[in-house]
Amino acid sequence: MTDSDAAAPLDDGDAPELPADLGAVREALVDWYEADHREFPWRRTEDPYEILVSEVMSQQTQLDRVVPAWEDFVERWPTTAALAAADRGDVVAFWSDHSLGYNNRAKYLHEAAGQVEDDYGGAFPETPEELRELMGVGPYTANAVASFAFNNGDAVVDTNVKRVLHRAFAVPDDDAAFERVASRVMPEGESRVWNNAIMELGGVACGTTPRCDEAGCPWREWCHAYQTGDFTAPDVPEQPSFEGSRRQFRGRVVRLLGEHDEMDLDTLGHRIRVDYTPDGKHGREWLRGLLSDLADDGLVQIEERNGQTTARLR
Ligand code: SF4
Repeated sequence: MTDSDAAAPLDDGDAPELPADLGAVREALVDWYEADHREFPWRRTEDPYEILVSEVMSQQTQLDRVVPAWEDFVERWPTTAALAAADRGDVVAFWSDHSLGYNNRAKYLHEAAGQVEDDYGGAFPETPEELRELMGVGPYTANAVASFAFNNGDAVVDTNVKRVLHRAFAVPDDDAAFERVASRVMPEGESRVWNNAIMELGGVACGTTPRCDEAGCPWREWCHAYQTGDFTAPDVPEQPSFEGSRRQFRGRVVRLLGEHDEMDLDTLGHRIRVDYTPDGKHGREWLRGLLSDLADDGLVQIEERNGQTTARLR
């Protein structure tokens, strides 16, 4: 850390000033993390596949229960090639047997493994933007994989990180403010150690019930909550939801239609998202809207024949 790490006040009005000695703030956290932290097997690997599996499993399950499930999973399907070749039913059954939450996550993981094999020749993409193209991988997971596998991520902002930033630097309970401050605090090019460290702080020191002194929190001297005694935590959802952007699905439709002369609505729907159900939230109505936008943009032609909708590229 150098003097150049010193922070200028944020200029965006709704975020607080960070400590002037931001270099010291960063160094204190990294030193604290490196001196002692919880050991999880996925912290010892830089394999993006293994890290993705751990991230998907951790979305709904306590970390100590994820460990044996993760070990079994990567032993059974050690690579994206192995997972992609597996029967989807077996992957879903594994998920249920290990009580890992929504089965859709197993389907997404299976689908994502196929994408890595088919679209990237078996080599994971390395940037958060590209990782978000994988099925079921939202911004949070993309960042985590880019950070922990490639040291190439942005600041991770999850429930724990928000709580830390809210308490330590009085960041308002606002997603954009959390994103800005998290990026500002992270030392450039050190996403692997930094994201691990700040998530660890939120996990073991700055939990719902803070353990500032017992856990030896390295930020006590700068912490707004520690100084004021107001340990309120922001009101944030516990579960990050799957975020498939419209742009992603538009891309999938165009790519698939490029491989086929024409496709009917349901066949196309099932190919672009694993949670497609004709009459469901992400069903025909949703897909018609997507196709209609693509038609307006002159990319797709929609035909209604004998009560059936088909689409083709123009
Ligand atoms: S001093 Fe306490 S409240 Fe402040 S960041 Fe550390 S653990 Fe959280």
